[in-house]
Amino acid sequence: MSRNKGKAPKAPKTQVTTAGRDPFANFGIVNPPVYHASTVLFKTLADLNDAVKKPFDGVYYGRFGTPTTFAFEEAVAEIAGGDKAIATSSGLAAITCALTAFLKSGDHVLMVDTVYQPTRKFCDEMLKGFGIETTYYDPLIGGDIAQLIRDNTKLIFLESPGSLTFEVQDVPAIVAAAKAKGVLTLLDNTWGTPLNFKAFDKGIDISLEAATKYIVGHADAMLGIIICREKHYKQLKSTVVTLGNSPGPDDCYLGLRGLRTLDVRLARHGETGLQLAKWLESRDEVERVIHPALPNDPGYPLWKRDFTGTCGLFAMILKPVSDSALAAMLDEMDLFSMGFSWGGFESLILPIKPEYCRTETPWPPAGSKGGPLLRLHAGLEDIDDLIADLEAGFARLAAT
Ligand SMILES: *Cc1c(COP(=O)(O)O)cnc(C)c1O
Repeated sequence: MSRNKGKAPKAPKTQVTTAGRDPFANFGIVNPPVYHASTVLFKTLADLNDAVKKPFDGVYYGRFGTPTTFAFEEAVAEIAGGDKAIATSSGLAAITCALTAFLKSGDHVLMVDTVYQPTRKFCDEMLKGFGIETTYYDPLIGGDIAQLIRDNTKLIFLESPGSLTFEVQDVPAIVAAAKAKGVLTLLDNTWGTPLNFKAFDKGIDISLEAATKYIVGHADAMLGIIICREKHYKQLKSTVVTLGNSPGPDDCYLGLRGLRTLDVRLARHGETGLQLAKWLESRDEVERVIHPALPNDPGYPLWKRDFTGTCGLFAMILKPVSDSALAAMLDEMDLFSMGFSWGGFESLILPIKPEYCRTETPWPPAGSKGGPLLRLHAGLEDIDDLIADLEAGFARLAAT
């Protein structure tokens, strides 16, 4: 499938343009076609018997994927530096399928306290119901996680930076502790993306992406991807197929198309986000900006050591204000819209309350006056227009 097969490894900027496609296997057409399929036909009994023996090698049945799915999977695996990838119908499905693949009744999971809230819900409701225990750990625990590993600890789940509050984890230290005890590590790398955080170089076993965010990049499809080493592939693929999780071909195509511009979009999202963060730091209305790529952020040293870039998602704590003042600011924003998700081309602003999905990490943090927390996503608009929009919002806040 990939025109990169058998050639010297390329730089990431090049990989996003070349991985997962082979025009001359397809009439010279630049992009792979979208195959819509449920039934796949076998010409002879021998072909059928062959396929039944190895359903994961080749085109077998729609739910197992089509050449469009495989092109997307191959491209992401190559860019992320993994051996294999498996597409799922959403980012959350990538997470729940990967957890399900390795856990059985009686197992124990170490889950980062700042994990994406629906992942937490899966642990607290589904996994608990299946007799699997979850312990939440402080995202800043580092190598001390060794003290939480039990005989029945099967896996450690990381998400770095953490959802909503962006604590950067010491991934290599946690991986070292896990490896010493034979425990698997799974990372939700949605913020880092396969370009800005190289999970496999850092020793992570399984990397998960909500492709819905930056990979699709246009707020128009739900898609997830599990990236892994060869040795974990069969178990993961078998679980995804057994759970009946099957992303549609059009969504895989949108994921593949998004990948081609991932590098340039991310660079711009990251640059605009950092400029906004610096501008917000200078504002009187703001108590603190939380952005791991800001030099005075507590996460900065680890971000600098482990990441090759930033994306456009960060947060700020406002000084305490009334609900009506906050509404006056948010209701009339022009370019910043309120909505869940992120990674698309437009800027977003969202009031968030991490205190409802934390047990080990206090919120508001020490020293904060507990004003509203707003998550911002820097889109692809002009920076001056975005600043003007925020400035007008602050003026409404002050006037109410
Ligand atoms: C959005 C998100 C997910 C889930 O992705 P969906 O495609 O919405 O299911 C998982 N992890 C993180 C960090 C996210 O932001």
